[in-house]
Amino acid sequence: DAPVPGKVSNRFDLEKETELRFEVESGEAAEQLELELLSGMAEVFGSELNRNKKYTFGPGSKIAVFTWQGCSVNLYGKPEVSYVSKDTPMLLYLNTHAALEQMRKQAERDNERGPRVMVVGPTDVGKSTVCRLLLSYAVRVGRRPTLVELDVGQSGVSVPGTVSALCIERPADVEEGFSVQAPLVYHFGSTTPGTNIKLYNKLTSCLAEVFSQRCEVNRKASVGGCIINTCGWVKGSGYQALVHCASAFEVDVVLVLDHERLYNELKRDLPHFVRVVLLPKSGGVVERSKECRRDTRDEKIREYFYGFRGLSFYPFSYEVRFSDVRIYKIGAPSIPDSCLPLGMSQDDTQLKLVPVTPGRDLTYHVLSVSSAEDGEEGARKGIVESPVCGFIVVTNVDTQTQVMKVLSPAPRPLPRHTLLIMDIRFMDMK
Ligand code: ADP
Repeated sequence: DAPVPGKVSNRFDLEKETELRFEVESGEAAEQLELELLSGMAEVFGSELNRNKKYTFGPGSKIAVFTWQGCSVNLYGKPEVSYVSKDTPMLLYLNTHAALEQMRKQAERDNERGPRVMVVGPTDVGKSTVCRLLLSYAVRVGRRPTLVELDVGQSGVSVPGTVSALCIERPADVEEGFSVQAPLVYHFGSTTPGTNIKLYNKLTSCLAEVFSQRCEVNRKASVGGCIINTCGWVKGSGYQALVHCASAFEVDVVLVLDHERLYNELKRDLPHFVRVVLLPKSGGVVERSKECRRDTRDEKIREYFYGFRGLSFYPFSYEVRFSDVRIYKIGAPSIPDSCLPLGMSQDDTQLKLVPVTPGRDLTYHVLSVSSAEDGEEGARKGIVESPVCGFIVVTNVDTQTQVMKVLSPAPRPLPRHTLLIMDIRFMDMK
């Protein structure tokens, strides 16, 4: 264990079934921390650590190093917080994995499909972490589960304002999480489902449909099942969205983290064959402030364009003529029922494509590039249900010359010309 120059080092000897929790300071000037496993075995959210390798965690990271058998680790640098806890729900989480694995075995035997699991609970109870854990454990025993990401505020897969699905083929990287190759991504456009709940439910149904089709042709995907991460909004329409999701995916298991009322409501409202399980949250889960969430979202968009850590991307900046693209917003502002045209319902307005005339106020908005075929009216119908093939950010709009400048991960030209505007903005400070 060679020391890291200029950094204090702290050794922790962990007993079996305990975890070291630490947080890295946040902010621009914060120094990152390195973690090294010296002896024994340990894992970070379900991914095993290699011995004598230094893992780096950047500003704002909140990490738990758990050990089943006992281990020693070194932490280089000064964490904001660090302590060892004996009180963790990991055994319950492992048992949950074991139960899901039983279901997969049975599915394999009986030529059925594997478990479809929905993880629910308020914000900051560790939903994403539990999903990551269960997926990594499943893939470690040779399964190929699918992660369905419905958290439009804090997506682990794509930029904020999207829902997505990702086939998991290897455990999450300790530092970087799951490798995101070829995810299926849909445009939602804002960071809370409440801005357009009809659209949110529609996209949930789209993902469920695509996943089911994949299961029909891919036995491993079918047996592996899926783990669905959801939003922390669990009341009113948010609750209805969970019920809708359970039915669209025909889930078999719902894991409720730390919310007894939600647990009881779901038990009451879901069909009796759905197993609803209440699990405690980990005491280590850290509540994140609004600012912290916003920073994470910003970081996610920055990563999309610039890459991170060892992998740098070099995005392109070029001009796009207004006349070469069609920009839409999904959902017209809601109007009183009494003012709706005859035969039209609010549903229709929420899924309607509203053309956006480019103006200065488009600056900094993130736009999804729809994979829908270019072409007029015919294609227009399928745009809402079409996956996204990438994202651009508008960096400047010139209404005089009818041209806007965009930041794009690929050189010109745009692969498609139908763009969907998000409420989300990104200011490029690089
Ligand atoms: P949710 O998805 O419910 O909003 P997350 O799973 O994203 O919650 O967890 C919130 C934060 O807490 C994350 O930064 C995560 O890394 C951290 N975290 C989760 N479990 C632990 C733990 N046992 N110890 C320390 N930090 C944890």
